[in-house]
Amino acid sequence: MDRSRLQDLLARETAEAVRRCPRSKDAYGRADHLFGRVPMTWMNKTAGSFPRYLAAARGARVTDIDGQEYIDFCLGDTGAMTGHSPAAVADAVQHRFTDLGGATAMLPTEDAEWVGAELTRRFGLARWSFSLTATDANRWAIRLARAVTGRPKILFNSYSYHGSVDESLIVVGPDGRGEARPGNVGAPCDVTLTSRVAEFNDLEQLERELAHGDVAAVLMEPALTNIGIVLPEPGYLEGVRELTRRHGTLLINDETHTFSAGPGGCTAAWGLDPDLLTIGKAIGGGIPAGAYGLSAELADRLLGRTDLDLIDMGGVGGTLAGNALSVAAMRATLEHVLTDDAFAHMSKLSERFEAGVRAGIDAHGLPWTVSRLGARTEYRFASPAPRTGTESAAAADAVLEDFLHLYLANRGILLTPFHNMALMCPDTTEQDVDTHTEHFAAALDELVS
Ligand code: PMP
Repeated sequence: MDRSRLQDLLARETAEAVRRCPRSKDAYGRADHLFGRVPMTWMNKTAGSFPRYLAAARGARVTDIDGQEYIDFCLGDTGAMTGHSPAAVADAVQHRFTDLGGATAMLPTEDAEWVGAELTRRFGLARWSFSLTATDANRWAIRLARAVTGRPKILFNSYSYHGSVDESLIVVGPDGRGEARPGNVGAPCDVTLTSRVAEFNDLEQLERELAHGDVAAVLMEPALTNIGIVLPEPGYLEGVRELTRRHGTLLINDETHTFSAGPGGCTAAWGLDPDLLTIGKAIGGGIPAGAYGLSAELADRLLGRTDLDLIDMGGVGGTLAGNALSVAAMRATLEHVLTDDAFAHMSKLSERFEAGVRAGIDAHGLPWTVSRLGARTEYRFASPAPRTGTESAAAADAVLEDFLHLYLANRGILLTPFHNMALMCPDTTEQDVDTHTEHFAAALDELVS
């Protein structure tokens, strides 16, 4: 690839974004009271010199304050996998907050048992507790795993992401040993005191690490989704389950993103049997919500421990977690929006998206690959597809990614800023996918013809 041509194209698209979005650029320039000029510093991770500002969003469409409309394949990096403001969730939230009243009263609602039962039906775990984010679901699952096993460490896959969880900020270093994730601002202690790490798809490394006997839990995604999509090789997940059992280590599946695989995530789709499961983002249909599930046996063991403070200030829970509004949103999402039929539709569209991207890659003979996990598709600048997080991290190309994101955004298509990821929602159409395919092919024509 001709890098100077790529730079020229990126400069052209950066200028085009300024031309198309003057109000967003101006709003960003005026945001002197925000840390990094944005409500959350990661919002600066956007192609171009400023973020586009949200005006409105419905279903698979977003409109910015300059009046530009986008087909949204970002979908809040999964938080809006339901589509934006689905009617059933909007009604449930309105009913709870306005008609009945009471978003947060420190009292349970009957919706919570309905949601727990539905999560059991989908994912298999027998007991559930709620949070407002996937990060907190992971934090609390980690604490319970440590409490019940009496072991200090948690094992992660290199270049996985599970939210801003201190323990997870570990990668496999060049010498094959665990070291702090570059640039992290986590806890001020050596991460190897709290954590171990193994490459995804590497059972030998996992076994070596578990053999130390100090790992309370493996916390993993069944497929990595935060460093491209890295799919498990045949036998890998079975191997993880067998090794964790053999070494007395609990297995926690984080299904926050892999929920895209189907109504019960990868856990149901692939017949997995974790001890705990965490999830967030999409299950609230856009309203903050998260959950963790435990096996009945584990729940009983924990509740039988009179020495653990699971009720007051002992380290699990949050005042707003499981609040009536959040739980009502989860119920509406699971009952009416992310149904079996919706997943079938989303998965079919995602196949079409994948085929479109593959056709573009093949037509230009590029050494790239595209991977899919149900409703979620992502391409990577490497071929064959990376097998581990570290391999996938090495395939990143920030300039190329910026060009593609900006080229598409300037033509009315949003991808997820941290990835080349595209997600389908129940409102996405074949025409939306084909529009992407056309523009993606045109972008590659400009890059490599
Ligand atoms: N788990 C996974 C797999 C994630 O991808 C993320 C966020 N991208 C999280 C947890 C954390 O989610 P949140 O930021 O909503 O807490």
